[in-house]
Order: sequence, then structure tokens, then C-alpha cells
Amino acid sequence: MYPVRIPKWVTYLYPHRLWHKSRTEKKLYLSFDDGPIPEITPWVLEQLDKYNAKASFFCVGENVEKHTDIYQQILEEGHQVGNHTQNHLNGWKTPTATYLENVAKCQKNVETQLFRPPYGKLSRKQAKILKKNYTIVMWDVLSGDFDPQCSSKECLQNVLRYSQNGSIIVFHDNIKAWKSLQYTLPRVLEHYRQAGYQFCAL
Ligand SMILES: [Zn+2]
Repeated sequence: MYPVRIPKWVTYLYPHRLWHKSRTEKKLYLSFDDGPIPEITPWVLEQLDKYNAKASFFCVGENVEKHTDIYQQILEEGHQVGNHTQNHLNGWKTPTATYLENVAKCQKNVETQLFRPPYGKLSRKQAKILKKNYTIVMWDVLSGDFDPQCSSKECLQNVLRYSQNGSIIVFHDNIKAWKSLQYTLPRVLEHYRQAGYQFCAL
């Protein structure tokens, strides 16, 4: 299991990582990991555009290489991009030198100062080195869109129940998440627009 809402003590353990933004403004920070891919990312961009919403895309370098046109579209539409490694590596299972090399490889495709570790997994050593050049962006609300055990309705509830001012919310523009994302994203955009929120890029 994974926590939908990140407990405070976790954020205290890793104070140098970004868990959320200002709690005083009615702003939300949607983020999409693992793209860009033609099956889903253009659809996400279309939804965001309907609501004049900006978001952040943590891109996998090899997907950017394959789908440069979609990557360009993300930038042209005013969204933020972040590094999510070249090949979606698990930091806990990858030696530090290999991991850093993979981040650097992604950086050639994605020019950014934001980094999000795949699976949220990063060793202390990897984090210590990466934080010199990047803001390590985590989240405070995990939609659960990637989880086959989590229904689309639960995924929506996760977001609606736990989001607050300044929340960084995780979705995925990957195939596994498509069913839940399709259901949840338009409803989240509608719900929070009506509640007077603005959707911003990091
Ligand atoms: Zn990922």
C-alpha cells in the first residue's frame, strides 16, 4: 500500500524536498508523470486547455525522444516540465553513478531544474547530489490512478478528500493510469474551478 496523503512526519524527514506549495493561496499544482505519449498526453493537454489550467509534466527522457512533437506542445502551451530520469529507474535498485548518469541523459531531452524520482524512491546519497542542481519535487496527494486495485471513483475521491491549498497532486500520463485518469481529471478540473481554485505550473 501507499499513502494517498503524505503524512507530515515524512515531510519532516525530508525537509529539502518539495511536498506542497503555499497553504494560503487557492492554487493547486497538478502533475503528470511518465509521458509524453501520443495515446494520453494530447488528451491531458486538451482537458487542461478547456479550463485554462497549467500543470507540470515529469517526463521520461526516452519518451521525449520518441515524441518530441508532444513535448514541444507541452512547452508551447505554457506548462512546466521536469526530469523523471531517461528510463524510469528505481533509485533504490540502481547504483548511484548509473542513476545520476540516467538523470543527466534525461536532462539532455528535458531542460529543467525540477526532478521527480520514479516511484518516489531515491537513496540519501542520490538525493544529496541531485539537490545541488534540482528541486526534488514530491507531492502531498497521490491520486492512485496507476493502481488497478483503486477504482476510478476511489481515485477521484482520493483527490477530492485530500487536496488543499497548495497541494501537489500526482497523476500519470501512462497507459496503466488511463482508465482512472479519464474519469478523474475532468471532474477534478470542474470541481476545483467551481470552488474558485487556480491550477498552476510549479
Ligand atoms: Zn513515474
